[in-house]
Amino acid sequence: MEYEAVIGLETHVQLKTKSKMWCGCANTFGAEPNTNVCPVCLGMPGVLPVPNEEAIRLTVLTGLLLNCEIPRFAKFDRKSYFYPDVAKNYQITQYDQPSTRNGWVEFEWNGRTQKVRITRAHLEEDVGKNTHFERHSGVDFNRAGVPLLEIVSEPDLTSAEMAYTYLNTLTEILHQGGVSDCDMEKGMVRCDVNVSVRPKGATRLGAKIEIKNMNSFSGVRRALEHEIPRQIEALSRGEKLRQSTRRWDDVAGVTEEMRTKEDAHDYRYFPDPDLMPLVPGETWLAEVRARAIELPLARKQRLMRDYQLPAGDAEVFRGDPALSRYFEALAPQAKNPKAVANWIINNLLAKLAELHHAEKAEQAGIGLDIEAMSLSGLADLKFPPSALLELVQLVEAKTISNSAAQQVFAEMFATGKTPERIVREKGLAQVSDAAVIEEFCDQVIAASPKIVADYQSGKTAALNSLKGQVMKLSKGKANPVLAGEILERKLKSP
Ligand code: ADP
Ligand code: MG
Ligand code: ZN
Repeated sequence: MEYEAVIGLETHVQLKTKSKMWCGCANTFGAEPNTNVCPVCLGMPGVLPVPNEEAIRLTVLTGLLLNCEIPRFAKFDRKSYFYPDVAKNYQITQYDQPSTRNGWVEFEWNGRTQKVRITRAHLEEDVGKNTHFERHSGVDFNRAGVPLLEIVSEPDLTSAEMAYTYLNTLTEILHQGGVSDCDMEKGMVRCDVNVSVRPKGATRLGAKIEIKNMNSFSGVRRALEHEIPRQIEALSRGEKLRQSTRRWDDVAGVTEEMRTKEDAHDYRYFPDPDLMPLVPGETWLAEVRARAIELPLARKQRLMRDYQLPAGDAEVFRGDPALSRYFEALAPQAKNPKAVANWIINNLLAKLAELHHAEKAEQAGIGLDIEAMSLSGLADLKFPPSALLELVQLVEAKTISNSAAQQVFAEMFATGKTPERIVREKGLAQVSDAAVIEEFCDQVIAASPKIVADYQSGKTAALNSLKGQVMKLSKGKANPVLAGEILERKLKSP
Protein backbone atom coordinates (compact mmCIF):
# COMPACT_ATOMS: atom_id res chain seq x y z
CA MET A 1 0.00 0.00 0.00
CA GLU A 2 1.13 3.54 -0.68
CA TYR A 3 1.23 5.96 2.27
CA GLU A 4 1.32 9.73 2.50
CA ALA A 5 2.70 11.98 5.22
CA VAL A 6 0.68 14.70 6.93
CA ILE A 7 2.59 17.38 8.79
CA GLY A 8 1.52 20.38 10.89
CA LEU A 9 3.96 22.72 12.62
CA GLU A 10 3.74 24.79 15.77
CA THR A 11 6.42 27.45 15.47
CA HIS A 12 7.51 29.62 18.41
CA VAL A 13 9.14 32.92 17.58
CA GLN A 14 10.53 35.49 20.02
CA LEU A 15 9.21 38.96 19.26
CA LYS A 16 11.51 41.88 18.62
CA THR A 17 10.65 44.15 21.55
CA LYS A 18 12.92 46.20 23.80
CA SER A 19 11.41 44.83 27.00
CA LYS A 20 9.72 41.64 28.17
CA MET A 21 6.02 40.86 27.93
CA TRP A 22 4.82 41.76 31.44
CA CYS A 23 7.65 43.76 32.99
CA GLY A 24 10.33 46.31 32.09
CA CYS A 25 13.24 43.83 32.02
CA ALA A 26 15.35 43.95 28.85
CA ASN A 27 14.59 41.49 26.06
CA THR A 28 18.18 40.72 25.11
CA PHE A 29 20.20 37.60 24.46
CA GLY A 30 23.46 36.50 26.02
CA ALA A 31 23.46 38.35 29.35
CA GLU A 32 24.86 36.71 32.50
CA PRO A 33 22.24 34.27 33.87
CA ASN A 34 19.52 35.88 36.00
CA THR A 35 20.60 39.47 35.42
CA ASN A 36 17.52 40.53 33.38
CA VAL A 37 14.98 39.56 36.03
CA CYS A 38 12.55 41.20 38.46
CA PRO A 39 9.79 40.05 40.82
CA VAL A 40 7.31 39.88 37.90
CA CYS A 41 9.27 37.56 35.59
CA LEU A 42 10.51 35.57 38.58
CA GLY A 43 6.87 34.81 39.40
CA MET A 44 6.86 36.27 42.91
CA PRO A 45 3.47 36.20 44.61
CA GLY A 46 1.47 39.42 44.66
CA VAL A 47 2.95 41.08 41.55
CA LEU A 48 0.86 42.24 38.60
CA PRO A 49 1.69 41.91 34.90
CA VAL A 50 1.61 45.01 32.66
CA PRO A 51 1.16 44.02 28.99
CA ASN A 52 3.73 45.15 26.46
CA GLU A 53 1.73 46.98 23.79
CA GLU A 54 4.40 46.61 21.11
CA ALA A 55 4.24 42.82 21.50
CA ILE A 56 0.49 42.97 20.89
CA ARG A 57 1.05 45.18 17.83
CA LEU A 58 3.65 42.72 16.47
CA THR A 59 1.23 39.83 17.02
CA VAL A 60 -1.52 41.56 15.06
CA LEU A 61 1.02 42.63 12.41
CA THR A 62 1.97 38.96 12.05
CA GLY A 63 -1.68 38.10 11.63
CA LEU A 64 -1.94 40.64 8.81
CA LEU A 65 1.21 39.32 7.10
CA LEU A 66 -0.18 35.78 7.34
CA ASN A 67 -3.58 36.75 5.88
CA CYS A 68 -5.34 36.09 9.19
CA GLU A 69 -8.57 37.40 10.63
CA ILE A 70 -8.04 39.80 13.53
CA PRO A 71 -10.87 39.15 16.01
CA ARG A 72 -12.19 42.25 17.76
CA PHE A 73 -11.98 40.38 21.05
CA ALA A 74 -9.06 38.35 22.33
CA LYS A 75 -7.91 37.36 25.79
CA PHE A 76 -5.08 35.87 27.81
CA ASP A 77 -5.34 32.54 29.63
CA ARG A 78 -3.31 30.70 32.21
CA LYS A 79 -1.91 27.32 31.25
CA SER A 80 -1.11 25.36 34.42
CA TYR A 81 2.33 23.98 34.22
CA PHE A 82 4.57 22.70 37.01
CA TYR A 83 8.19 22.78 35.97
CA PRO A 84 11.30 24.58 37.30
CA ASP A 85 11.52 26.89 34.27
CA VAL A 86 8.11 28.43 35.04
CA ALA A 87 8.40 30.00 38.47
CA LYS A 88 4.77 31.10 38.82
CA ASN A 89 3.54 27.58 37.89
CA TYR A 90 1.53 28.77 34.93
CA GLN A 91 2.33 30.20 31.53
CA ILE A 92 0.28 33.08 30.17
CA THR A 93 -0.97 32.29 26.66
CA GLN A 94 -4.05 32.75 24.47
CA TYR A 95 -6.22 29.66 24.47
CA ASP A 96 -9.63 29.80 22.81
CA GLN A 97 -9.71 33.47 21.77
CA PRO A 98 -6.35 34.27 20.18
CA SER A 99 -5.40 37.62 18.60
CA THR A 100 -5.26 36.18 15.07
CA ARG A 101 -6.63 33.13 13.25
CA ASN A 102 -7.52 31.53 9.89
CA GLY A 103 -4.76 32.72 7.59
CA TRP A 104 -2.32 31.24 5.13
CA VAL A 105 1.27 31.33 3.87
CA GLU A 106 2.30 30.90 0.25
CA PHE A 107 5.56 29.77 -1.32
CA GLU A 108 6.83 28.50 -4.64
CA TRP A 109 6.78 24.76 -4.86
CA ASN A 110 7.64 22.69 -7.95
CA GLY A 111 6.78 25.54 -10.29
CA ARG A 112 3.45 26.40 -8.66
CA THR A 113 2.25 28.28 -5.59
CA GLN A 114 1.74 26.16 -2.47
CA LYS A 115 -0.67 27.46 0.14
CA VAL A 116 -0.39 26.32 3.76
CA ARG A 117 -3.25 27.33 6.04
CA ILE A 118 -2.46 28.98 9.36
CA THR A 119 -4.78 27.98 12.18
CA ARG A 120 -3.73 30.83 14.44
CA ALA A 121 -0.88 32.97 15.67
CA HIS A 122 -1.20 33.71 19.36
CA LEU A 123 0.80 35.60 21.94
CA GLU A 124 2.37 33.94 24.95
CA GLU A 125 5.49 34.20 27.09
CA ASP A 126 8.76 32.34 26.92
CA VAL A 127 9.93 30.35 29.92
CA GLY A 128 13.30 30.08 31.68
CA LYS A 129 16.12 27.90 30.48
CA ASN A 130 17.25 24.82 32.41
CA THR A 131 20.88 23.80 32.34
CA HIS A 132 22.00 20.49 33.76
CA PHE A 133 25.44 20.35 35.32
CA GLU A 134 27.25 17.31 36.62
CA ARG A 135 25.75 17.33 40.12
CA HIS A 136 23.02 19.93 39.98
CA SER A 137 20.78 21.88 37.62
CA GLY A 138 20.36 25.62 37.15
CA VAL A 139 17.57 27.80 35.80
CA ASP A 140 18.25 31.04 33.94
CA PHE A 141 15.19 33.30 34.06
CA ASN A 142 16.53 35.92 31.62
CA ARG A 143 14.35 34.37 28.93
CA ALA A 144 11.28 34.02 31.17
CA GLY A 145 8.57 36.44 30.12
CA VAL A 146 10.07 37.26 26.74
CA PRO A 147 7.13 37.75 24.32
CA LEU A 148 6.67 34.64 22.24
CA LEU A 149 4.44 34.13 19.24
CA GLU A 150 3.12 30.65 18.54
CA ILE A 151 2.17 30.11 14.91
CA VAL A 152 0.13 26.97 14.35
CA SER A 153 -0.26 25.56 10.85
CA GLU A 154 -3.01 23.29 9.61
CA PRO A 155 -1.78 19.79 8.70
CA ASP A 156 -1.24 20.86 5.07
CA LEU A 157 2.43 19.89 4.64
CA THR A 158 3.24 16.64 2.92
CA SER A 159 7.02 16.16 3.01
CA ALA A 160 10.18 16.97 4.95
CA GLU A 161 11.33 19.32 2.21
CA MET A 162 7.99 21.14 2.13
CA ALA A 163 8.09 21.62 5.91
CA TYR A 164 11.60 23.04 5.53
CA THR A 165 10.47 25.47 2.82
CA TYR A 166 7.46 26.51 4.89
CA LEU A 167 9.68 27.34 7.87
CA ASN A 168 12.07 29.36 5.73
CA THR A 169 9.17 31.23 4.13
CA LEU A 170 7.51 31.96 7.46
CA THR A 171 10.68 33.27 9.10
CA GLU A 172 11.58 35.31 6.02
CA ILE A 173 8.21 37.07 6.29
CA LEU A 174 8.61 37.67 10.03
CA HIS A 175 12.20 38.83 9.65
CA GLN A 176 11.53 41.20 6.77
CA GLY A 177 8.33 42.35 8.47
CA GLY A 178 10.28 43.45 11.57
CA VAL A 179 8.40 41.04 13.84
CA SER A 180 11.39 38.98 14.94
CA ASP A 181 15.08 38.66 14.12
CA CYS A 182 14.43 34.90 13.85
CA ASP A 183 18.04 34.23 14.82
CA MET A 184 18.20 30.45 15.14
CA GLU A 185 21.55 30.50 16.86
CA LYS A 186 20.08 32.63 19.63
CA GLY A 187 17.15 30.24 20.01
CA MET A 188 14.66 32.80 18.71
CA VAL A 189 12.79 30.18 16.66
CA ARG A 190 11.79 26.77 17.98
CA CYS A 191 9.26 24.40 16.63
CA ASP A 192 7.14 21.37 17.45
CA VAL A 193 6.68 18.99 14.55
CA ASN A 194 3.43 17.01 14.29
CA VAL A 195 3.48 14.17 11.82
CA SER A 196 1.29 11.24 10.89
CA VAL A 197 0.97 8.96 7.90
CA ARG A 198 -2.10 7.45 6.26
CA PRO A 199 -2.96 5.36 3.21
CA LYS A 200 -2.65 7.63 0.17
CA GLY A 201 -5.96 9.35 -0.54
CA ALA A 202 -7.52 8.51 2.85
CA THR A 203 -9.53 11.33 4.42
CA ARG A 204 -9.07 10.44 8.09
CA LEU A 205 -5.87 11.56 9.76
CA GLY A 206 -3.52 9.03 11.31
CA ALA A 207 -2.30 9.09 14.91
CA LYS A 208 -0.31 12.25 15.51
CA ILE A 209 3.29 11.97 16.66
CA GLU A 210 4.72 15.19 18.04
CA ILE A 211 8.46 15.85 17.98
CA LYS A 212 9.06 18.57 20.52
CA ASN A 213 11.35 21.55 20.68
CA MET A 214 13.33 21.47 17.46
CA ASN A 215 15.72 24.39 17.17
CA SER A 216 17.01 24.13 13.62
CA PHE A 217 15.19 23.85 10.32
CA SER A 218 17.66 21.34 8.94
CA GLY A 219 17.04 19.34 12.14
CA VAL A 220 13.29 19.41 11.39
CA ARG A 221 13.98 18.16 7.89
CA ARG A 222 16.25 15.36 9.12
CA ALA A 223 13.81 14.34 11.85
CA LEU A 224 10.97 14.08 9.33
CA GLU A 225 13.14 12.19 6.84
CA HIS A 226 13.60 9.64 9.61
CA GLU A 227 10.17 9.70 11.23
CA ILE A 228 7.99 9.37 8.12
CA PRO A 229 9.56 6.09 6.91
CA ARG A 230 9.55 4.81 10.51
CA GLN A 231 5.78 5.28 10.78
CA ILE A 232 5.14 3.82 7.32
CA GLU A 233 7.20 0.77 8.20
CA ALA A 234 5.34 0.27 11.47
CA LEU A 235 1.95 0.49 9.72
CA SER A 236 3.10 -1.87 6.96
CA ARG A 237 4.04 -4.40 9.65
CA GLY A 238 0.45 -4.13 10.89
CA GLU A 239 1.40 -2.21 14.01
CA LYS A 240 -1.05 0.35 15.35
CA LEU A 241 0.47 3.78 16.04
CA ARG A 242 -0.79 5.78 19.00
CA GLN A 243 -0.65 9.49 19.65
CA SER A 244 2.58 10.27 21.46
CA THR A 245 5.44 12.67 21.93
CA ARG A 246 8.91 11.82 20.69
CA ARG A 247 12.32 13.38 20.97
CA TRP A 248 14.76 13.83 18.09
CA ASP A 249 18.31 12.70 18.80
CA ASP A 250 20.33 14.61 16.23
CA VAL A 251 23.53 12.71 16.89
CA ALA A 252 22.04 9.23 16.63
CA GLY A 253 19.63 10.39 13.88
CA VAL A 254 16.59 8.73 15.47
CA THR A 255 13.42 9.74 17.31
CA GLU A 256 12.53 8.08 20.60
CA GLU A 257 9.29 7.98 22.53
CA MET A 258 9.02 10.29 25.56
CA ARG A 259 5.39 9.95 26.61
CA THR A 260 1.90 9.44 25.31
CA LYS A 261 0.26 12.81 24.90
CA GLU A 262 -1.73 14.56 27.61
CA ASP A 263 -5.07 16.14 26.69
CA ALA A 264 -5.71 19.86 26.71
CA HIS A 265 -7.73 19.71 29.93
CA ASP A 266 -4.60 18.56 31.78
CA TYR A 267 -3.41 22.16 31.48
CA ARG A 268 -6.56 23.48 33.17
CA TYR A 269 -6.69 26.63 31.04
CA PHE A 270 -8.67 29.54 32.47
CA PRO A 271 -8.87 33.28 31.69
CA ASP A 272 -6.13 35.24 33.44
CA PRO A 273 -7.93 37.44 35.98
CA ASP A 274 -5.00 39.88 36.07
CA LEU A 275 -5.24 40.78 32.38
CA MET A 276 -7.88 42.74 30.48
CA PRO A 277 -9.23 41.31 27.20
CA LEU A 278 -7.81 42.82 24.02
CA VAL A 279 -10.33 44.84 22.02
CA PRO A 280 -8.45 46.52 19.17
CA GLY A 281 -10.05 49.74 17.87
CA GLU A 282 -10.07 51.05 14.30
CA THR A 283 -7.38 53.70 14.77
CA TRP A 284 -5.08 51.29 16.58
CA LEU A 285 -5.60 48.66 13.87
CA ALA A 286 -4.97 51.20 11.11
CA GLU A 287 -1.62 52.07 12.70
CA VAL A 288 -0.61 48.42 12.74
CA ARG A 289 -1.86 47.92 9.19
CA ALA A 290 0.37 50.79 8.04
CA ARG A 291 3.40 48.77 9.20
CA ALA A 292 2.61 45.75 6.98
CA ILE A 293 5.26 45.20 4.30
CA GLU A 294 4.73 43.86 0.80
CA LEU A 295 5.34 40.11 1.18
CA PRO A 296 8.67 38.83 -0.23
CA LEU A 297 7.01 36.51 -2.76
CA ALA A 298 4.60 39.21 -3.93
CA ARG A 299 7.53 41.59 -4.36
CA LYS A 300 9.45 39.00 -6.38
CA GLN A 301 6.48 38.46 -8.67
CA ARG A 302 5.90 42.19 -9.07
CA LEU A 303 9.56 42.82 -10.00
CA MET A 304 9.31 40.14 -12.68
CA ARG A 305 6.11 41.68 -14.01
CA ASP A 306 6.96 45.39 -13.81
CA TYR A 307 10.58 45.24 -14.95
CA GLN A 308 10.68 41.99 -16.97
CA LEU A 309 13.33 40.63 -14.59
CA PRO A 310 14.23 36.95 -14.91
CA ALA A 311 13.21 34.81 -11.92
CA GLY A 312 16.84 34.42 -10.78
CA ASP A 313 17.35 38.18 -10.41
CA ALA A 314 13.98 38.71 -8.75
CA GLU A 315 14.82 35.88 -6.35
CA VAL A 316 17.93 37.74 -5.15
CA PHE A 317 15.79 40.83 -4.50
CA ARG A 318 13.12 38.75 -2.76
CA GLY A 319 15.62 37.77 -0.08
CA ASP A 320 16.99 41.27 0.40
CA PRO A 321 14.57 44.20 0.82
CA ALA A 322 17.33 46.83 1.01
CA LEU A 323 18.84 45.68 -2.25
CA SER A 324 15.38 45.53 -3.75
CA ARG A 325 14.69 49.15 -2.74
CA TYR A 326 18.02 50.15 -4.24
CA PHE A 327 17.03 48.51 -7.53
CA GLU A 328 13.61 50.10 -7.55
CA ALA A 329 15.04 53.56 -6.93
CA LEU A 330 16.82 53.27 -10.29
CA ALA A 331 14.92 50.84 -12.49
CA PRO A 332 12.07 53.14 -13.60
CA GLN A 333 14.61 55.62 -14.98
CA ALA A 334 16.68 53.09 -16.91
CA LYS A 335 16.04 52.19 -20.53
CA ASN A 336 16.75 48.58 -19.64
CA PRO A 337 16.01 47.70 -15.99
CA LYS A 338 17.66 44.30 -16.47
CA ALA A 339 20.99 46.10 -17.01
CA VAL A 340 20.56 47.85 -13.65
CA ALA A 341 19.81 44.50 -12.00
CA ASN A 342 22.95 43.04 -13.59
CA TRP A 343 25.12 45.80 -12.18
CA ILE A 344 23.62 45.44 -8.73
CA ILE A 345 23.78 41.66 -8.59
CA ASN A 346 26.99 40.94 -10.48
CA ASN A 347 29.09 43.94 -9.51
CA LEU A 348 27.74 45.74 -6.48
CA LEU A 349 27.00 42.59 -4.48
CA ALA A 350 30.33 41.04 -5.42
CA LYS A 351 32.23 44.14 -4.27
CA LEU A 352 30.24 44.33 -1.05
CA ALA A 353 30.95 40.65 -0.45
CA GLU A 354 34.68 41.24 -0.89
CA LEU A 355 34.59 44.13 1.54
CA HIS A 356 32.44 42.25 4.03
CA HIS A 357 34.68 39.23 3.75
CA ALA A 358 37.80 41.28 4.45
CA GLU A 359 36.16 42.89 7.49
CA LYS A 360 34.92 39.59 8.81
CA ALA A 361 38.28 37.96 8.27
CA GLU A 362 39.75 40.67 10.46
CA GLN A 363 37.27 39.80 13.18
CA ALA A 364 38.68 36.28 12.96
CA GLY A 365 37.05 33.24 11.55
CA ILE A 366 33.40 34.25 11.26
CA GLY A 367 31.74 32.88 8.14
CA LEU A 368 30.37 35.06 5.35
CA ASP A 369 26.88 36.22 6.17
CA ILE A 370 25.37 36.72 2.72
CA GLU A 371 22.04 37.92 4.09
CA ALA A 372 23.46 40.72 6.17
CA MET A 373 25.71 41.82 3.36
CA SER A 374 23.71 44.47 1.56
CA LEU A 375 22.00 45.60 4.74
CA SER A 376 25.33 46.43 6.28
CA GLY A 377 27.01 47.50 3.05
CA LEU A 378 24.61 49.67 1.04
CA ALA A 379 24.51 52.43 3.64
CA ASP A 380 28.30 52.71 3.59
CA LEU A 381 28.69 53.03 -0.18
CA LYS A 382 30.74 56.05 -1.20
CA PHE A 383 28.55 56.83 -4.21
CA PRO A 384 24.80 57.57 -4.39
CA PRO A 385 22.43 55.23 -6.28
CA SER A 386 22.12 57.89 -9.00
CA ALA A 387 25.80 57.35 -9.86
CA LEU A 388 25.16 53.70 -10.69
CA LEU A 389 22.31 54.76 -12.96
CA GLU A 390 24.63 57.26 -14.64
CA LEU A 391 27.13 54.48 -15.25
CA VAL A 392 24.48 52.25 -16.82
CA GLN A 393 23.40 55.13 -19.02
CA LEU A 394 26.99 55.81 -20.15
CA VAL A 395 27.19 52.20 -21.33
CA GLU A 396 23.76 52.33 -22.95
CA ALA A 397 24.74 55.52 -24.82
CA LYS A 398 27.93 53.71 -25.91
CA THR A 399 30.01 56.52 -24.40
CA ILE A 400 32.09 53.85 -22.67
CA SER A 401 32.61 50.19 -23.40
CA ASN A 402 31.66 47.42 -21.00
CA SER A 403 35.25 46.82 -19.99
CA ALA A 404 35.79 50.54 -19.36
CA ALA A 405 32.61 50.52 -17.28
CA GLN A 406 34.17 47.89 -15.04
CA GLN A 407 37.11 50.21 -14.42
CA VAL A 408 34.78 53.13 -13.74
CA PHE A 409 32.78 51.03 -11.29
CA ALA A 410 35.87 49.94 -9.36
CA GLU A 411 36.97 53.56 -9.09
CA MET A 412 33.51 54.76 -8.01
CA PHE A 413 33.46 52.09 -5.35
CA ALA A 414 36.90 53.05 -4.07
CA THR A 415 36.67 56.84 -4.24
CA GLY A 416 33.05 57.89 -4.67
CA LYS A 417 33.93 60.03 -7.70
CA THR A 418 31.16 60.44 -10.29
CA PRO A 419 31.31 58.22 -13.39
CA GLU A 420 31.50 61.26 -15.65
CA ARG A 421 34.57 62.56 -13.80
CA ILE A 422 36.29 59.15 -13.81
CA VAL A 423 35.70 58.76 -17.55
CA ARG A 424 37.18 62.22 -18.12
CA GLU A 425 40.17 61.79 -15.79
CA LYS A 426 41.09 58.36 -17.10
CA GLY A 427 40.29 59.13 -20.72
CA LEU A 428 37.98 56.12 -20.93
CA ALA A 429 35.47 57.53 -23.39
CA GLN A 430 34.97 55.08 -26.20
CA VAL A 431 36.55 55.97 -29.52
CA SER A 432 33.87 55.91 -32.21
CA ASP A 433 35.87 58.03 -34.63
CA ALA A 434 36.22 55.78 -37.69
CA ALA A 435 39.45 57.41 -38.83
CA VAL A 436 41.16 56.68 -35.49
CA ILE A 437 39.94 53.08 -35.40
CA GLU A 438 41.00 52.58 -39.01
CA GLU A 439 44.54 53.49 -38.04
CA PHE A 440 44.52 50.87 -35.24
CA CYS A 441 43.15 48.29 -37.71
CA ASP A 442 45.89 49.03 -40.26
CA GLN A 443 48.57 48.55 -37.59
CA VAL A 444 47.10 45.22 -36.46
CA ILE A 445 46.71 43.89 -40.02
CA ALA A 446 50.29 44.84 -40.84
CA ALA A 447 51.60 43.13 -37.68
CA SER A 448 49.73 39.82 -38.05
CA PRO A 449 50.11 38.48 -41.60
CA LYS A 450 49.52 34.89 -40.48
CA ILE A 451 46.17 35.58 -38.83
CA VAL A 452 45.14 37.68 -41.81
CA ALA A 453 46.00 34.76 -44.09
CA ASP A 454 43.96 32.41 -41.87
CA TYR A 455 40.97 34.68 -42.15
CA GLN A 456 41.29 34.99 -45.88
CA SER A 457 41.53 31.21 -46.27
CA GLY A 458 38.09 30.93 -44.65
CA LYS A 459 38.77 30.76 -40.88
CA THR A 460 36.31 33.50 -39.98
CA ALA A 461 37.01 33.07 -36.27
CA ALA A 462 40.39 34.70 -36.88
CA LEU A 463 38.54 38.01 -37.03
CA ASN A 464 37.97 37.90 -33.27
CA SER A 465 41.66 37.57 -32.63
CA LEU A 466 42.36 40.64 -34.75
CA LYS A 467 39.56 42.55 -33.08
CA GLY A 468 41.05 41.66 -29.71
CA GLN A 469 44.34 43.16 -30.82
CA VAL A 470 42.63 46.38 -31.92
CA MET A 471 40.95 46.64 -28.53
CA LYS A 472 44.27 46.06 -26.79
CA LEU A 473 46.05 48.63 -28.92
CA SER A 474 43.32 51.19 -28.16
CA LYS A 475 43.54 50.36 -24.43
CA GLY A 476 39.94 49.11 -24.53
CA LYS A 477 38.58 52.37 -25.84
CA ALA A 478 37.78 51.47 -29.45
CA ASN A 479 34.11 50.92 -30.14
CA PRO A 480 34.22 47.13 -30.61
CA VAL A 481 31.33 46.99 -33.07
CA LEU A 482 32.90 49.61 -35.26
CA ALA A 483 36.32 47.94 -34.99
CA GLY A 484 34.81 44.65 -36.19
CA GLU A 485 33.10 46.30 -39.12
CA ILE A 486 36.20 48.18 -40.25
CA LEU A 487 38.42 45.08 -39.94
CA GLU A 488 36.01 43.00 -41.96
CA ARG A 489 35.77 45.61 -44.68
CA LYS A 490 39.56 45.97 -44.91
CA LEU A 491 40.17 42.20 -44.98
CA LYS A 492 37.56 41.57 -47.64
CA SER A 493 38.93 44.25 -50.01
CA PRO A 494 42.57 44.68 -49.16
P1 ADP B 1 -3.01 19.71 20.22
O1 ADP B 1 -4.28 20.24 20.73
O2 ADP B 1 -2.65 18.36 20.67
O3 ADP B 1 -1.88 20.69 20.31
P2 ADP B 1 -3.84 20.45 17.62
O4 ADP B 1 -5.05 19.87 17.01
O5 ADP B 1 -3.91 21.81 18.19
O6 ADP B 1 -3.26 19.45 18.66
O7 ADP B 1 -2.70 20.46 16.50
C1 ADP B 1 -1.42 20.83 16.76
C2 ADP B 1 -0.63 20.76 15.47
O8 ADP B 1 -0.64 19.42 14.98
C3 ADP B 1 -1.20 21.59 14.36
O9 ADP B 1 -0.14 22.17 13.66
C4 ADP B 1 -1.95 20.61 13.50
O10 ADP B 1 -1.94 21.00 12.14
C5 ADP B 1 -1.13 19.36 13.67
N1 ADP B 1 -1.90 18.12 13.56
C6 ADP B 1 -3.07 17.83 14.16
N2 ADP B 1 -3.43 16.56 13.88
C7 ADP B 1 -2.46 16.03 13.10
C8 ADP B 1 -2.24 14.76 12.50
N3 ADP B 1 -3.09 13.75 12.67
N4 ADP B 1 -1.12 14.57 11.76
C9 ADP B 1 -0.23 15.57 11.61
N5 ADP B 1 -0.39 16.78 12.15
C10 ADP B 1 -1.48 17.01 12.90
MG1 MG C 1 -0.83 22.39 20.46
ZN1 ZN D 1 11.14 41.20 34.74
